[in-house]
Amino acid sequence: MTTSPAQVPAPNDFPGGRPRVVIIGSGFGGLFAARALRKAPVDVTLIGKTAQHLFQPLLYQVATGILSEGEIAPATREILRGQKNARVILGEVTEIDVAARTVSSEILGRKTVHPYDELIVAAGAGQSYFGNDQFAEFAPGMKSIDDALELRGRIFGAFELAEIAHDQAEIDRLLTFVVVGAGPTGVEMAGQIAELARRTLRRDFRNINPTGARVILLDAAPAVLPSFGKKLGDRARRQLNEIGVDVQLGAMVTGVDADGLEVKDTDGTVRRIQAATKIWAAGVQASELGRMLGEQTGAEVDRAGRISVEPDLTLPEHPEIHVVGDMMALSKLPGVAQVAIQGGRYAAEAIQRRVTGKKPQDPFHYSDKGSMATISRFSAVADIGPFKFSGFIAWVLWLVVHLMYIVGFKSRVTTVLHWMVSFLGRGRSERVATQQQVYGRLALEQLGPNWEVSKTGGPKNTDPGDEDITQRESA
Ligand SMILES: Cc1cc2nc3c(=O)[nH]c(=O)nc-3n(C[C@H](O)[C@H](O)[C@H](O)COP(=O)(O)OP(=O)(O)OC[C@H]3O[C@@H](n4cnc5c(N)ncnc54)[C@H](O)[C@@H]3O)c2cc1C
Repeated sequence: MTTSPAQVPAPNDFPGGRPRVVIIGSGFGGLFAARALRKAPVDVTLIGKTAQHLFQPLLYQVATGILSEGEIAPATREILRGQKNARVILGEVTEIDVAARTVSSEILGRKTVHPYDELIVAAGAGQSYFGNDQFAEFAPGMKSIDDALELRGRIFGAFELAEIAHDQAEIDRLLTFVVVGAGPTGVEMAGQIAELARRTLRRDFRNINPTGARVILLDAAPAVLPSFGKKLGDRARRQLNEIGVDVQLGAMVTGVDADGLEVKDTDGTVRRIQAATKIWAAGVQASELGRMLGEQTGAEVDRAGRISVEPDLTLPEHPEIHVVGDMMALSKLPGVAQVAIQGGRYAAEAIQRRVTGKKPQDPFHYSDKGSMATISRFSAVADIGPFKFSGFIAWVLWLVVHLMYIVGFKSRVTTVLHWMVSFLGRGRSERVATQQQVYGRLALEQLGPNWEVSKTGGPKNTDPGDEDITQRESA
């Protein structure tokens, strides 16, 4: 279905007061857009499915016990505390009505409707299992704090179970870790599991030898870190091999179960790997909201769920809807933090100009600041413009850049301390894993979606149908 083109209200055309900007998502795109609007004469409502701003690039360090979840996920409310024109709403956006210009969000059965004059959609992407969603039960992805904590429990738990196992085949299965996907996330994850086994846990067990743990990095593609080019990809592969990671390329995962994986090699051979811990770091699928917007506006949505945007990051004939970050498709831009940050700032500037009557900006131009991936402590690869680094220099660069983008002074200080513990010493300060973290996701899935609402009492004395907590009419 398509809608008739919406009119963008003129600067003095907002009957309810200042223009209302609704932002969906508290990730890189959403948060940086909200902050860029701090001086704009608008009221900003940022709606997030989680109460935090998550720094996804360091999730693997939470999963492997280096950092705590708080360090990479400060509360969005706290970050925007001093920004008087912004408020934060916790809730999952379930509906966008383009014609009525409203966004509905829900949390534990409570529904809220938010009218907007300008909408920034930055809901990011989730894991894609390429049509094999059943793999998720045994091979969690790496997209959220929940994922990272579940993986932490599974990784450390596998060593514990191996310590009390008697059968050598079972010990081998428990001490085999398979990471699927040789992009930056997979490479970093595999490197850190190898370091955990060989450095941190080396002396912690009596019956098993953790240094003998097998870490396998699998990918159907023929290269490691393909987006970094052949030279850096080959170096990364060599560095992974040096720390004991078994890199298997041209290997497509065709089955995953509790005990291991089935893999098909390029020559057609099908083989099995017995492994208790499987981690899925391959493929992304943009938020469902992209498809919802596509159906209402006629904008094209690609196979990965990304919605095509105009050169100014708005939807065709809907200049009031801006889509940024991992959800947008524009000139094959990659799904990386800088695209989301720059897109969020650009959308904010477009809104600011519109409401203050200034002329529009030039089309969005992405300034590529390069890519980096760590392999292990003191070792990384970095691809910055014409420069390609690897080894210690790349690692120092990686350290500095990541520290710069961690939000909040407190988080930066504690992150540096934890890095010193893990990289200068052998320790990991965050080894706590609870049963809830390991089993919670699967248990909730079995209980079904209505369980959470019923156990938390559901909405009280509200009509969940169409509450508008802004108490203002839509412009
Ligand atoms: C493990 C991992 C490692 C990465 N490493 C790097 C790296 O080293 N360098 C790099 O540049 N990039 C990296 N990336 C990619 C980078 O994190 C993303 O490109 C970036 O986060 C995209 O920003 P975004 O704002 O589009 O989405 P996100 O940052 O994912 O934010 C989306 C937000 O929307 C919220 N949301 C989703 N659906 C809804 C809904 N229905 N209602 C309300 N809120 C919703 C989410 O809770 C989240 O707050 C990595 C990603 C992952 C997963």
